[in-house]
Parts: sequence; structure tokens; C-alpha cells
Amino acid sequence: MEQNPDSLWQNCLDVIKARVPDQTYETWFKPIKPIDYDEDKLTVQVPSQFFYEWIENHYKDLLNTTLEKISGNGVRLVYSVVVSDEDMSDGSAQAAGQDSGRPVRQTPPAQSYLNERYTFQNFVEGDNNQFARAAALAVAETPGGTSFNPLVLYGGVGLGKTHLAQAIGNKSLEEGGARRVLYTSSEKFTLEFINSIKNNKTAEFSEQYRNVDLLIVDDIQFFQKKESTQEQFFHTFNALYQAGKQVVLTSDRPPKELSGMEERLLSRFHAGLIADIQPPDLETRIAILQHKAQEDNIEISYEILEFLAANITSNVRELEGSLIRLLAFSSLSNTDITIDLAKKVLKEVVGKNFKSAVSIQDIQSITGDVMDVSESDIFGKGRKMEVALARQVAMYLSRELTNSSLKTIGLHFGGRDHSTVVHACKVIEEKREKDETLRSQLKSIRHKIEMSQL
Ligand code: ADP
Ligand code: MG
Repeated sequence: MEQNPDSLWQNCLDVIKARVPDQTYETWFKPIKPIDYDEDKLTVQVPSQFFYEWIENHYKDLLNTTLEKISGNGVRLVYSVVVSDEDMSDGSAQAAGQDSGRPVRQTPPAQSYLNERYTFQNFVEGDNNQFARAAALAVAETPGGTSFNPLVLYGGVGLGKTHLAQAIGNKSLEEGGARRVLYTSSEKFTLEFINSIKNNKTAEFSEQYRNVDLLIVDDIQFFQKKESTQEQFFHTFNALYQAGKQVVLTSDRPPKELSGMEERLLSRFHAGLIADIQPPDLETRIAILQHKAQEDNIEISYEILEFLAANITSNVRELEGSLIRLLAFSSLSNTDITIDLAKKVLKEVVGKNFKSAVSIQDIQSITGDVMDVSESDIFGKGRKMEVALARQVAMYLSRELTNSSLKTIGLHFGGRDHSTVVHACKVIEEKREKDETLRSQLKSIRHKIEMSQL
């Protein structure tokens, strides 16, 4: 009896193709190669161990029933897993052998574009990043070997996405989990892709990206609306995925909010693990600063670190920046690092946001203190001159120093409306010009408010 593995397998494929989505077919069935067929077994070759496990987990029944239907008798499916292409390429390099017959050295791993300073050791763990860090660590230990493929890290600007993604690359290179790692940004990927088209080098382009154990693509939000690049990325992604290689991606927003991103690409992301990084809480921010200070050998008091951490709330990059600036300031002006210096630096780093830390209540109570009026008078109805003035000063400072709306400010002053606040501000601005006492009171209130923020 004629036993042709190709035609038997082709018949199976025809049935399967009609039963699964195109993409599934392309990804999981097309790469399977029939290699042998005898009486009771069909041997097929799959690209990797990972691939084998995947189809065993997901398509075992489909494969078995299809095969039974086509062959009509109890033919078993037997898998043969391709040895990793690492071994294959070394082998072929040797076979192509230089004349001398000496073993040919393995080609050195291509450039990874990783920055060695991004490691797990210097990534401070906090509640905000614990999950993402744990997932990243697992991936770094066995790239391609977990179900976190792709691993998508997302979070706001400056929260450590690049750091964590690169730490995965550095660790897996260091520990040998991956031999070839490539880090790129989606912008670089796009540019190189466009250039490769221009220069007729798309094959080289593909080769470069597919020939790795771990591909890290940073900031995939830039892929939005770039259709042909997405297409190319999708193929690269599939090729790696099918070969059991690891893909790590970062995004500044959750994948489902990536508008203009193809559905099939998004569903691929969801098939892996999506982990978010949130802004760090105060404790974590302090820990990050302590860590940086120690790393850079900066002697700095806890009080100052806490002051910086309390005021820079949403971005680790700015947090770090404040410390570096503080150091620069102090060495340029040859002064010690003091709270006053820290304040100066802070104003530059966070600018207007510095305001948001002060509350209207703080302003009321400090104003009352300095102007010798009770706090309850300030939001009460009294019309005595000193009381009215203190109330206006507190309204004025609330507008200056907080991000609250006029309406909110009015509400804090016994439910007055916003026009009262506008009026108060005008009065104080005018008086300030002529009234020396008021000027010095304003100055001292501001100073006390700043101190209260420490
Ligand atoms: P993103 O890519 O999310 O915009 P980065 O990874 O570039 O942010 O992080 C900004 C800076 O903050 C980097 O210098 C990084 O080392 C540092 N950083 C962020 N998170 C942490 C952390 N948890 N521990 C230590 N440093 C951090
Ligand atoms: Mg980044």
C-alpha cells in the first residue's frame, strides 16, 4: 500500500483549515511538516519543544479526530521536535567548514543594544511594581519557557518599563537563558523596516529580528496606525513565538487602549501576560532615592530624601533627576545639601506641581496664625476688618498655591461663591502694592506654608 505522509497530512490540513481561524492555521498548523508514515503512525516535525507543548495542550483533540477521520484506521500522530536552530546553525557553519578543517568558532552574539546599568539588583521593588517585576524575573530566568509570552509591561512615563525590560535582557544573557538578545524601540524597528524596503534589504531586516532568543521592543504605542510595520512586526513576532523564543514588549498604556493597532496583534498580546507598573507610593519613592543616593555615594539626610519623595509623586525619572540636580547644585555652589537647596531644586524639577501639595486648610490655619485671627473666623461670617482681610489673604494664597478651582476655594470659605474669591484676589493684589505690613505678612505666611510641607 502506498503510504505518502505528504498527501495524508495535506488531507488533514484541508479539514483543519476549514475548522480553525486563519491565523491559528498559519501559526500552528502550517509549520508542521510530515516526515514519515507507516502502518500505524504519522510522524510530523514541529519547530520546537514549546510548539509541541502548545499544540498538545490546545489542538490535540482536533488533530487526533481529524487524523482518524482521514486515515480511517487507528493511525497515531508522533512528533519529532527540531533541534534548536542554534545547534543547527553552528552545525551548518561547521559543515561549510573552512579549508583548514579547524572547528569554526561560533559567531559571537550580535549586539544586543542593552544598557548594562538596568538590572534587577538596582530595580527597587514596591507594591506598585511587584507583579510586573515577578513576571519579568520569571521570564528572565527561562526566556520562552513560561506562558508569559509575550510579556507586555505597561505603565506611565518614567515608571521603570524600560528598566525592567532591559533587566530581563541583561539577566538572561548573563545567566545563559538566552544567547542572542535584541533590544529595540518600536521607532527604531519602524525606521529600519522602512529603510530596508528602500534599500531592498527586507530579507536582512527579517533575519536580524528573527534570529534571536529574546526580542525586546520598547514603547509599542508608536506602532499605532503604521500598518505595514505592524504587519512586519506581526510576522516577526509569530516567527519567534513559533520557535519558542521570548518576546517582551512595553507600552505606555494598556494594550486595549492602543488605538489603531490591529486586532490580531492585540489578541496575541492578550495570549501572553500583560503586567502593569503603577506610580510608586511614598515609601517606595523614598527607597528608590535611598538606593540611588547609595549607588552614587551621595551623603544625604533622610529628611531631605523624604522631602523630595513627598513632592515628586508620579515619575521615577524626575525623582532621580532631583537627586542628580541637588548634587550638581551643591557641588557647583560649594554648599551643603540642605532643605533649602532641596526646595530650590524641587521648584525646577516639578515647577507648578509643587503647589498641589498644600491644602486650603493648611493655608487657612497658617494665615490665621500669622494674622492673629482664629481659623473659625476665617471661614465664618464676621465682617470685622482684620477678619475680612485675613479671609481674603487666605483665599488669595489658596488660588496661588493650590490647583483648586475658584468654586472649590469658595466652598472652603463657608460656601462663598467664586466671584467672592475673584474679588478677594483683586483686593489683595492691589493692597500688596501699597501696604508694607501686608507684604511682610504674606511673606511670612508663605514661608510657614513651605515649612509645613517638610
Ligand atoms: P519608562 O520606560 O517607564 O518611561 P524608565 O525605565 O526609563 O521608565 O525609568 C526611568 C528612570 O527611573 C530610570 O533611570 C530607571 O532606572 C528609574 N527607575 C524606575 N523605576 C525604578 C525602580 N523601581 N527602582 C529603581 N529605579 C527605577
Ligand atoms: Mg521607556
